[in-house]
Amino acid sequence: MIKKINNFINGRFENSTSKTIPVWNPQNGEKLTEVTCSSKKELNNAVSSAKSAFCKWSNITLKERVEVFYEFRNELKNNITSLANSICQENGKTFEEARAEILKGIELTEFACSMPQIIHDEIQEVSRGVECRSSHVPLGIVASITPFNFPIMVPMWTVPNAIVLGNCMILKPSEQTPVGASKIAELLKKSGLPDGVFNVINGDKNIVEAICDHKDISAISFVGSTKIAKNVYQRTTSNFKRCLSLGGAKNHLIVLPDANEEMASNDIIASMSGCAGQRCMAASAMLGVGKIDSIINKIANKAKTIVAGKNLGSVISEEAKIRIEKYIEEAEKSGAKIILDGRGVKVSGKENGYYVGPTILDHVKPEMKIAKEEVFGPVLAIIRTNEIDEAIAIENNSQYGNASSVYTQDGNLANYVTEKVSAGMVGVNIGVPVPREPFSFGGWNESRFGVGDITGKSSINFWTQLKKRTSKWNQSAKKNWMS
Ligand code: NAD
Repeated sequence: MIKKINNFINGRFENSTSKTIPVWNPQNGEKLTEVTCSSKKELNNAVSSAKSAFCKWSNITLKERVEVFYEFRNELKNNITSLANSICQENGKTFEEARAEILKGIELTEFACSMPQIIHDEIQEVSRGVECRSSHVPLGIVASITPFNFPIMVPMWTVPNAIVLGNCMILKPSEQTPVGASKIAELLKKSGLPDGVFNVINGDKNIVEAICDHKDISAISFVGSTKIAKNVYQRTTSNFKRCLSLGGAKNHLIVLPDANEEMASNDIIASMSGCAGQRCMAASAMLGVGKIDSIINKIANKAKTIVAGKNLGSVISEEAKIRIEKYIEEAEKSGAKIILDGRGVKVSGKENGYYVGPTILDHVKPEMKIAKEEVFGPVLAIIRTNEIDEAIAIENNSQYGNASSVYTQDGNLANYVTEKVSAGMVGVNIGVPVPREPFSFGGWNESRFGVGDITGKSSINFWTQLKKRTSKWNQSAKKNWMS
């Protein structure tokens, strides 16, 4: 067992006396560790340490702040295997998936390191001898609240950018996967980040609410399910703070009859089953247009090569397994045809693990629950349509809008679909259309509340505010209408 996961405050892991929550290894159902359920006093201590560090950290240059993140990037690289193993233990994904998560974390850190090449103050001589200058300045103390599905990568969406831009940060990881945040804290300290600039506060709903209400926290980014994303957005903004709150998803892949069958079937399987379907970018519904039986047969055959405990990890909890299997059961009762059933799978030697095998349901109707709600498991619901516009209408009708892709070899049709779908991240012949750095990540509709995206250049506006300075130094600047 890993020793208790404590908070990281002012550069140290604090041995808390607050109550703890058990953390389970979802691959075998055994207790992995326990995590502190922080009190408001502990949050206050973290905020005080961040406030003490802010003056010095925000006053050094951007280039100096970035130096720490060059080191951090190398630490991530040097520790890929141990970090990936730690993710497997707490989250249940496969080693390759965990490794890919760290690689993306490295890419995100490299983006933060490029900030001095991206941000420049804007200066213009607006009248003779009078200069206007606009600069991005940090907000102060900011917080990032993260979900279970990417214990290292999702924190990497916010931590490097927010800190490089001069803020001090409180990270509140998921109580289901708190180990990754501790590893990030250790590596940032080793990389030379001054004490207090980065703090980790653990806990559940109560500490999230305390973060939303804390008078000294200026901005909060949240990533999680839509219901909670809405609550956090509402609570934070009603406290007059800045908030960007990313929610759940229901991603549609529109498959046209001319799709390259080999590529489409491989991608669709990888998208619906990767990370056991627990990705906000996972293919969850396939909208098959016209005659697509041959692609569906290929998908069904290839899905049989995805085996729980081998190239398919576990889902996060027993609760999640029950929820996913209930969705399958309800869909079957409502008339969907099960062509591959992942219910009740057992992994030899890991009989108590929370596994669901790949599941494919054909002839799903748009009004069924499984067609509309986020399942967050390795389940693909196939909805058949006669026309492209019918498929687009189903996609447009979704409350969510994270991702959508089209499979076709016809450029005109690809353009038509990508223009009409209502999602922030769209793909052509791509199963998981995650924009790579420096392109920003963010959905539409109820997959995101607030303005802008969470990564890339868009994040600069979220983590900073503009200071506009007008100066007159030159005697030749005569009196004018703005003097
Ligand atoms: P979750 O909403 O249950 O938890 C997210 C965070 O909120 C955690 O830190 C948790 O401690 C906290 N929390 C839980 N209940 C709360 C409550 N009642 N009030 C306040 N805070 C609360 O999400 P999860 O199950 O950890 O993660 C899966 C969800 O996250 C899925 O819906 C997935 O689509 C979504 N997600 C979205 C994106 C995106 O970019 N849009 C990315 C990753 C995950």
